[in-house]
Amino acid sequence: MTRPGPCPVPQIASMAAYALADPCPDDWVSLAQNESAFAPSPAAVSAARAIADETALYPDPDWTALRAAIAQVHGVAGAHILCGAGSMELIGALIRAFAGPGDAVLGSAHGYLFAQTASQQVGAAYHCVPEYNYSVDTDALAAAVTPQTRIVFLCNPGNPTGTRISNGQIVALRAQLPETVLLVVDQAYAEFDDQDPTAIFDLVDSLNTVVLRTFSKAYGLAGARVGWGLFPAAIARDVRKLLNPNNVSGISQAMACAAMLDQAYMRHVVTETAKRRMDFASQLEISGFTCPESHTNFVLIPFSDASAADRADARLRDHGLLLRGMAGYGLPHCLRATIGQAGDMNRVAGLLTKGPDA
Ligand SMILES: *Cc1c(COP(=O)(O)O)cnc(C)c1O
Repeated sequence: MTRPGPCPVPQIASMAAYALADPCPDDWVSLAQNESAFAPSPAAVSAARAIADETALYPDPDWTALRAAIAQVHGVAGAHILCGAGSMELIGALIRAFAGPGDAVLGSAHGYLFAQTASQQVGAAYHCVPEYNYSVDTDALAAAVTPQTRIVFLCNPGNPTGTRISNGQIVALRAQLPETVLLVVDQAYAEFDDQDPTAIFDLVDSLNTVVLRTFSKAYGLAGARVGWGLFPAAIARDVRKLLNPNNVSGISQAMACAAMLDQAYMRHVVTETAKRRMDFASQLEISGFTCPESHTNFVLIPFSDASAADRADARLRDHGLLLRGMAGYGLPHCLRATIGQAGDMNRVAGLLTKGPDA
């Protein structure tokens, strides 16, 4: 059927809208979006207040102070950092810059769905390789590269699995990939799990790898929309062309900068989140669940089948607790629970004591 009026380009007309979490009624608890259970650093909140009356002006298009703070804390070159309105903006720009119709983007079976959406936006194919035990299989990724593959997209630690592979495995994957293939390592949850001795940022020196981070999770700034990445210089130049010139608001830059400089607060959030996560996971284990070990601020909960997951979801919703269904990630038998307030986690665990079959 021809539609009346203007027609979008074919790849947009044929794609589905991005599957956000269901809206959460005001008096429910949302554990569906991996938001931090903690407010941002008080220093970030003060920084926002202090700059609020400068909002008549456009923000710094070069994110100067923010990049300097990131460079200082992470010991990386500020000139190689780009900031985005969330790391989603950077993922979208990277895929637009390096893939188009006829090209392919390769991901992992239970990888981040936005990479698929961003590929569809440009008319590129998005292919996934299977995971084993909810874990990324780097050999399978390397083996699935074809002449059409332009980008390999890897999320580590993974969302929604929560599992991790070692940085050494990522370095080995890079060595297995053709030099012309761009490797994107999305580390949205890295702050929850940064004990790995292999410096992942060094991979960027290979000139064909990008490492992405975000302020949305451990720093509790999902609402401010700030992500960043370390890019080889040539790739940064091209990706910059695709970002909105004033993409991160002044208030958001000020908040992210102050949050980055308050590492002690972020460490506290990460430690407390991990304690709650381990307590929650051990309650589930006692009830008979086998959850993959999480290195993030959420837990993936596998049920015996999709209908058991649906029944549990309905029971939780009856009590105003909203988790995230995982059918879109090829895991219809799973629910994903973001780590929230300790009392809410205990309520979730209490409603799941009948185990994975109930
Ligand atoms: C939350 C998340 C992001 C971050 O998105 P923002 O746009 O920075 O809020 C990126 N990748 C993964 C895997 C995530 O879970």
